[in-house]
Amino acid sequence: MSAQRSDHLHDIVVVGGGPGGYAVAFRAAARGLDVALVEEAEVGGTCLHRGCIPSKSILHVAEVLEELHRAEVLGLKLTFDGIDGEGLDAFRRGVIDGLHKGLEFLVGKRTTLHRGRGRLVRSDDGTIEVEVTPADGGEVTTVRGRHTVLATGSTPRTIPGIDIDGEVVQTSDQALWFTQPPERAVVIGAGAIGMEFASMWHPMGSHVTVVEALDRVLPLEDEASSTALAKAYRRRGIDVRTSAKVLGVTVEQGVAHLDIEVDGAAQRLEADRVLVAIGRGPNTADTGAAELGVLDERGFVVTDDLGATAVDGLWAVGDVRPTLALAHAAFAEGFVVADRIAGEDTPAVDHVHTPRVTYCHPEVASVGLTEAEAREQHGDDAVAVTTYSLKANAKGIIAGSDGFVKVVHLAGVVPTGAPGAVPSPGGPVLGVHLVGPHATDLIGEATLATAWEAVPAELAAITHAHPSLYEAMGEAFQAAAGLPFHGH
Ligand code: NAD
Repeated sequence: MSAQRSDHLHDIVVVGGGPGGYAVAFRAAARGLDVALVEEAEVGGTCLHRGCIPSKSILHVAEVLEELHRAEVLGLKLTFDGIDGEGLDAFRRGVIDGLHKGLEFLVGKRTTLHRGRGRLVRSDDGTIEVEVTPADGGEVTTVRGRHTVLATGSTPRTIPGIDIDGEVVQTSDQALWFTQPPERAVVIGAGAIGMEFASMWHPMGSHVTVVEALDRVLPLEDEASSTALAKAYRRRGIDVRTSAKVLGVTVEQGVAHLDIEVDGAAQRLEADRVLVAIGRGPNTADTGAAELGVLDERGFVVTDDLGATAVDGLWAVGDVRPTLALAHAAFAEGFVVADRIAGEDTPAVDHVHTPRVTYCHPEVASVGLTEAEAREQHGDDAVAVTTYSLKANAKGIIAGSDGFVKVVHLAGVVPTGAPGAVPSPGGPVLGVHLVGPHATDLIGEATLATAWEAVPAELAAITHAHPSLYEAMGEAFQAAAGLPFHGH
């Protein structure tokens, strides 16, 4: 049966209504373009429905519990009587539903929404069209645009030979919906998802073991952040096993038995819940992208820095590209593609200066280069590192944190020769690494500092409120400029 073909030619047809897709659509609409959005499920994608938003809702609950467990230190007599599963679910759903309603309203106002599964096809005249198959088996329609953007996101990766039964062995898609925490949980993979789940379950009473193949948790972060986080987890009683290989998982009567190998030695674990959190892969199967020849061997869409594929008029944004799999990276990529289609000169997304945030307890956030990357790129002598402990910060002490601000910067600025120019002990900030309360918010100032290539002396001159957590950043910049205040 041939598809019902509309004569209308949109400026852009976007396939996928997650953060990447709706960022393209909303920016394009703001620039006066006519946009169609094709979505097979709910607008909002993984972030809103199966990722960032439900997980951050539950992590907020976990954070409240972390404070409750500290009640004695705070001089409070509080007891924890357990979790009201229905209440927890209502809170989580309420957050998602509220945001979803707002997003649907904006999508309805700014785009023509086609509900169904989109597939890219090449028309007889060589242009790209999108065939839309409604989930209810209704009539297939063809939507056409001058430009087409693929933004179909990603799905959790699994381990060959390990059966995801959805009950005992789960990916984050299933694990997010718990109403009571598992008694014993094993988390496979110490990336953002694994570390966040460990932080959700542990304060709720689960015994959590984290199994990571590499030699440190959050392996993409600066080594100091990985070390501090592993230490904080272990101190709280989370069992962190690094350099650990999962050999197999069997499930008997609701209990998982895991065979793992740690530094060559065989170990056995038992769990009521196993979370497989070893990364996500592009959701490009059955999208028509393979037939158009725009995928690499791993299924990612090959694009230039701006998001354009080798096929004229076809673009891609978000997790289908092999860039950072983060909602805010997808937003940024979406804005660039929409701007470029609108004829603007917007530069490509600067992924080095895109903040990375993990909502574990304590939180971890960073932007720019790690110390190791900076030393590799600039040479050991050119790089300086200043670390400011939250133990010297009043709000850090009140929050019970021993996190830090680590500033990686060039070692010094050679005087320009201009009258009055003096050597500065601190050259441009290359990277900032944070561990501690609200690190995921505090990274904002660091993002400006690195993106604008500010030098510590300039940043040190900016007044920070006292007492505040973010003054730790100001003090770190002061120390990096050779002017330490409370730190040493
Ligand atoms: P990830 O790639 O961040 O981490 C996966 C971890 O699993 C790595 O440390 C890897 O070494 C380890 N691993 C891989 N195979 C393994 C095996 N067989 N046994 C043990 N360990 C193994 O992936 P993720 O945590 O699943 O997250 C997926 C994507 O979603 C990432 O790009 C992540 O950045 C993003 N995400 C971001 C946030 C956030 O920004 N807060 C939250 C969740 C997810």
